[in-house]
Amino acid sequence: KIRVRYAPSPTGHLHIGNARTALFNYLFARHNNGTFVLRIEDTDTKRNVIDGEKSQMDNLEWLGIDWDEGPDKPGEYGPYRQSERRDIYQPLIQELLDKDLAYESFMTEDELAAQRDEQRAKGEAPRYVDEYAGMSQDEIKAAKEAARAKGLKPVIRLRVPHDHVYAWKDIVKGDISFKSDTIGGDFVIAKRDGMPTYNFAVVVDDHLMEISHVLRGDDHVANTPKQLAVYDAFGWEAPVFGHMSLIINTETGKKLSKRDETVLQFIEQYRSLGYLPNAMFNFITLLGWSPVGESEIFTKKQFIKMFDPKRLSKSPAAFDNKKLEWVNNQYVKAGNADQITSLAIQQLIKAGRMPAEPTKEKIEWARQLTNLYKQQMSYAAEMIDLSSVFFEEPESLDEDARQELDQESAPIVLREFASKIKDLPVFGAFEIQSVIMQIQKETGIRGRKLYMPIRIATTREMHGPDLAPSIELIGRDKVLAHIEKTFA
Ligand code: GLU
Repeated sequence: KIRVRYAPSPTGHLHIGNARTALFNYLFARHNNGTFVLRIEDTDTKRNVIDGEKSQMDNLEWLGIDWDEGPDKPGEYGPYRQSERRDIYQPLIQELLDKDLAYESFMTEDELAAQRDEQRAKGEAPRYVDEYAGMSQDEIKAAKEAARAKGLKPVIRLRVPHDHVYAWKDIVKGDISFKSDTIGGDFVIAKRDGMPTYNFAVVVDDHLMEISHVLRGDDHVANTPKQLAVYDAFGWEAPVFGHMSLIINTETGKKLSKRDETVLQFIEQYRSLGYLPNAMFNFITLLGWSPVGESEIFTKKQFIKMFDPKRLSKSPAAFDNKKLEWVNNQYVKAGNADQITSLAIQQLIKAGRMPAEPTKEKIEWARQLTNLYKQQMSYAAEMIDLSSVFFEEPESLDEDARQELDQESAPIVLREFASKIKDLPVFGAFEIQSVIMQIQKETGIRGRKLYMPIRIATTREMHGPDLAPSIELIGRDKVLAHIEKTFA
């Protein structure tokens, strides 16, 4: 039975990289009719942020990722927040202490730092060296009592065997192994306040929650030998591991890091620009995973059906913002008109171009405006720039546009156009187009000479969406004023 989990620490918003981890686990679970668990790893209380958990869940839901068990969906393996599982970890830590597989360590942070500095100075890899090495049982006991008398609190360290190899068959990266002497020495499994560390709690939880596969980011590869050491200490069988390749920002060529400001990295940020959730889902799925064949646009259902972890890529995934825009544009073009319009309206309201509670007429107007730009807009927030001619005072014309209007035929076309649209009983795209055709018939002016002056005078741009519907949406009064201004 396939059981997988996404285990975020509630330390901030949902990052693209974490969303990808969640998504692949989700697809893997759904493909295999397995179970997808959401577990909150909140033992590092200093790093937790208020609403961190809520924001994770909210953004996962937005992406269309749902879970079967989690803090809000109690199941038989709960609780699903590590902070609520202390009573589960405590006896297990005690068990390792009783078996002398773990021990109390009283070295202070300062002493540990000094040890590492010394090792670095000698060109050695920093590691913890057993503070009781070479001592007899009685001496160890005395040292611990002395430390306790000084008021020091111990951490608990796991004994890591020497000359052992931790190896696993990674479903993404293939065979990986670490010599036990290279993983930093006996490592901490419980902090001074008794809270277990990540490397301990994750093993206990994955084991007790019967997690079959751990699919996670590449940054956890170095944790895996430590976790294997914990599995060994308990005599538990480890799950199958898969570490997904890191993500490279194509803009910088460097690993995508939260400090990188060249690209937005949090799902929330894309949400607020009016990106579509199914487009984001699609794009993220292609970060380090590829379907068979050339197509890149698929529904969630199709992804679930196709998902095969064997197609997770070993090489880094490229985060290409241009591609994201392209994917989103595919979804905008094919999207449901009401959904796209409502995203566009949110942006227009945010930009102060529409009242917060638009009238029915305004909504209908926005629907037509959105329709005009649907083909070219990558995401809803682009509407603001694209459609500025509908909202701002017309800008003065640039050189190229001026030249077009200097042609002899331009004033003829524009005068005719202005006088004819003044009297139109209905100011609609069809009627406006008919006027343009009529001018062609009456004056013999056609093509660029006919359309360019009208486009420039009415929209103040040389390029833009379909002309007649644009003119309709600008509105008769404004169009006439724009033409007037052209001659001023
Ligand atoms: N809480 C860990 C993280 O956010 C989870 C790592 C894991 O999947 O084991 O990176």
